[in-house]
Amino acid sequence: MSISFSEKVDVIIVGSGPTGAAYARTLTDKLPNAKILMIDAGPIVSDPPGHHLNNIQDVAAREKAQIASQGPHRHAAYAPMSEEERLSRQAGAPDTSMLRRPGLFVVGGGPVDGEGFPAAHAAHNVGGMGSHWFGACPRPAERERIPFIDRAIMDEALTTAEKLLRVSNAQFPDSHIAGPLEALLGGLFNQGRAPDRRVQPMPMAVVRTKDGVLRSGPDVILGDLLSGASANFELRPETVCRRIIMEGGHAVGVELWGTETHDTTRIEAGTVVVAADSLHSPQLLFASGIRPPALGHYLNEHPQVTILAEFEGVDPGEASTLSDGGAVLADRTVVTRMTSGVTWIPYNGESFPFHVQLTQAEPASLPPDDRAIAEKRPVLSVSFFLTSDLQYDNRVEFSETEKDWYGRPKMTLRFKMSDKDRERMQLARDTQAKISAALGRSLPGHKPRTPPDGSSLHYQGTMRMGEKDDGQSVCDKNSRVWGTDNVYVAGNGLIPTETAGNPTLTSVALAILAARHIAEEQAGR
Ligand SMILES: Cc1cc2nc3c(=O)[nH]c(=O)nc-3n(C[C@H](O)[C@H](O)[C@H](O)COP(=O)(O)OP(=O)(O)OC[C@H]3O[C@@H](n4cnc5c(N)ncnc54)[C@H](O)[C@@H]3O)c2cc1C
Repeated sequence: MSISFSEKVDVIIVGSGPTGAAYARTLTDKLPNAKILMIDAGPIVSDPPGHHLNNIQDVAAREKAQIASQGPHRHAAYAPMSEEERLSRQAGAPDTSMLRRPGLFVVGGGPVDGEGFPAAHAAHNVGGMGSHWFGACPRPAERERIPFIDRAIMDEALTTAEKLLRVSNAQFPDSHIAGPLEALLGGLFNQGRAPDRRVQPMPMAVVRTKDGVLRSGPDVILGDLLSGASANFELRPETVCRRIIMEGGHAVGVELWGTETHDTTRIEAGTVVVAADSLHSPQLLFASGIRPPALGHYLNEHPQVTILAEFEGVDPGEASTLSDGGAVLADRTVVTRMTSGVTWIPYNGESFPFHVQLTQAEPASLPPDDRAIAEKRPVLSVSFFLTSDLQYDNRVEFSETEKDWYGRPKMTLRFKMSDKDRERMQLARDTQAKISAALGRSLPGHKPRTPPDGSSLHYQGTMRMGEKDDGQSVCDKNSRVWGTDNVYVAGNGLIPTETAGNPTLTSVALAILAARHIAEEQAGR
C-alpha cells in the first residue's frame, strides 16, 4: 500500500531538549543543505524558544511558562507543599510533595514508600527538561564511562558538549563559601584520588552576568538556528510523533498529530532521530513496532539522600537579590543561592560510589526557624546521588491497548532497589553524617531526606547502547537502533553503565557523535 505524505524532509528530530538540539546543531553545521525538521509535543513557552525558565525574572511569567510545560496538567499550578508535607519531609518520612514538581508532569506510579517509580517526571515544552534543569555537568569517570567508545573520541565529544552547553567550573570565584568548603572536604576525601576526582567546583551550564546567572537551555545549543540562520531548519511545536512508519528495517517517515489542531499528518523522512526523553522515546519505538528485546529494560536512576547542615565558622554572605529563579516560589522549594557556586565531591568508583553536591540555601526560602539560623551562618544542602545496580527487570512497560492522553501507548514503570543499592544508601548516610559533623551539625529537627524513587529525573538504560546486538541493548555505539538502518535514538536512556554523575553532558556528547555519523553516512552516499 502506498502512503501519501504531505511533505518530505531529510531528517526529522523528535524532541527539542538538549539532545535533540545537539543533533539539530551538529547536522545543520555538517549538512547545510539537508532539510531538518525538529518537532516537539509541547508548546513554545519562552522567548527565545527553549530558553531556561529560571532566567525569566518575572515570577508570574515564569510560573505561567512552567504550567504550560506540564503536559496533561498544563492548565493550572499544582497545590503548594502543605505544612504537613513540609514537616513530614523534614522528618525524613515519605515525601508526597515530590509527586508534583513545577514545570513537569508525573509519568511514574506506585506508592511513595514502596516498590514502583512514583516520582518519575517529564516535561512537554520546547526545550524539554533542558528548560528546567539545574545544569550540573560532571564528566563521567571510572565505571561510568562507556567501555566500547574510544576514550579520546569520547573526551573530544565531551569537550564539544561543554562548549555547546557553556559549561564552566570557574563561574563563581567570589563565592565566600567555596574556598573554605573545598579545603575542609578536601582534607577529608582527597587523599589517594586522581586530580580530576578531588573536591572541586561543580562544572555548571551557567554563565555569570553582572546581575546574577544565566542558565543554559537548548536555545543556547540551537543558537542562530532560532533566528533563521538556516532556511533548511524548522522547529515545529505542539506536534506529537505517534509512530515511525517502517518498511522492514527502514523508516520511510513519521505520523504526526497536532495537539491544538488534532490533525494527523504524515511526513516522509530520510532519517528519524528520536530524542523524546528516556521514557517517551522507547514509547515511540514500541508504538512503531520497533522492539529490540532490551527496549525499556535496565531502567535505573540516581537514588538520593539529602540533609541540610550548618557550616560553622563562615558568615552567610549577602542575601541574593537576584536572578536564577532566586525569588521564592509559592511551592516552598528551598532555593539554592547560585552565586555561592556548587561544591562537588566526585564519584570515585567502588571506593566512593556516589557523588555529592553542596549548595547554599537562600535564607528567605526557608521556614522561620531555619531562616534564623541561615541568616547567622550558611545552611548547606548536602545532596548525595548514588549509583544503582543495573537490573533487567527494572523497566518501563507499554500497553498494547491503553493509551496516554496524547494517544501513545500507556506506560507502567517497574523499579525495585537491590540489596546492594540499600547497602550503598546506608554507606551514603554514614558518609553524610561524617560531612555534617565536619561542617558543624545538621539543621536541628531535620533528618536525612530520601525522596521517592524516580525523583532524580535522571532515567537511564531504557534504550541502552551496546557493542553488539545480543539482546541486552537497543542501539549500537553510533546510537542507531539495532535492526534498523536509519532510526537513531538520543538521551539518558542510552547510557549503559552504572553512573552517579548527572547524565546530560554525556547524552549531549553521544548525540554529537551520532549526528556526525549520520552526516558522514549521508556524505558518503
Ligand atoms: C529540575 C531538573 C533538574 C535537573 N538537573 C540536572 C542536572 O543538574 N544535570 C543533569 O545532567 N541533568 C539534570 N536534569 C535532567 C536533564 O534535564 C535531562 O537529562 C535532559 O533535559 C535530557 O535531555 P533530552 O533532550 O534527552 O530530553 P528532554 O529535555 O526531556 O526533552 C525531550 C522532549 O521530547 C518531547 N517529546 C516527548 N515525546 C514526544 C513525542 N512523542 N513527540 C514529540 N515530542 C515528544 C518532550 O516534549 C520534550 O520537550 C534535570 C532535570 C530537571 C527537570
